[in-house]
Amino acid sequence: MAAMYNTTMQDLVRNLLTELGEDPDREGLVRTPARVERALRFLTSGYSADLDEVLNNALFTVDYNEMVIVKDIDFYSLCEHHLLPFFGKCHVAYIPRTQVLGLSKIPRIVDVFARRLQIQERMTNQIAETIREKLNPLGVAVVCEGTHLCMSMRGVEKQNSFAVTSAMFGAFRDNARTRLEFLELVKLRGAAQSAGAAASLACVPD
Ligand SMILES: [Zn+2]
Repeated sequence: MAAMYNTTMQDLVRNLLTELGEDPDREGLVRTPARVERALRFLTSGYSADLDEVLNNALFTVDYNEMVIVKDIDFYSLCEHHLLPFFGKCHVAYIPRTQVLGLSKIPRIVDVFARRLQIQERMTNQIAETIREKLNPLGVAVVCEGTHLCMSMRGVEKQNSFAVTSAMFGAFRDNARTRLEFLELVKLRGAAQSAGAAASLACVPD
């Protein structure tokens, strides 16, 4: 583990602390640069994740064409505009054509894309695209509901600090009944907002 640390990032964090008016040598902050580096490496570990390795041995051929749904997957990500967290729940559904994916792999896919500098809209699309690409299903739907600390902590546009984003392909896009069935099953917290496609705006860069 030690090998992954470099002094460049820790120097940057020390400089940042100084710029913020802090004394990086005071007791409580001495080890902060190393902690920040460790935290950031983990929170951005999705960049180096290998999707094929994540999905390895978890694709199964089945004769099953009903909706597969995994609800309430926790995600934690960092907004790329402010480097502040946004987090919430992700709901994923697909309709198999010939293959299914081990259920535990779906949260792993979410982590791969959440652990990067992100915007919620892109993360939602990437999760859906990956399932479409790897499984070639009859349809994919992904809905993410996130709270954006860059909005709520800074007190800007409070009403938008909770955002719902969605990505739908195949049967979920083409068939209103399939889409409704999915939305009924996930019972969104922001149900009113999610009636259409992507609803409220997530982080607004300034
Ligand atoms: Zn932001």
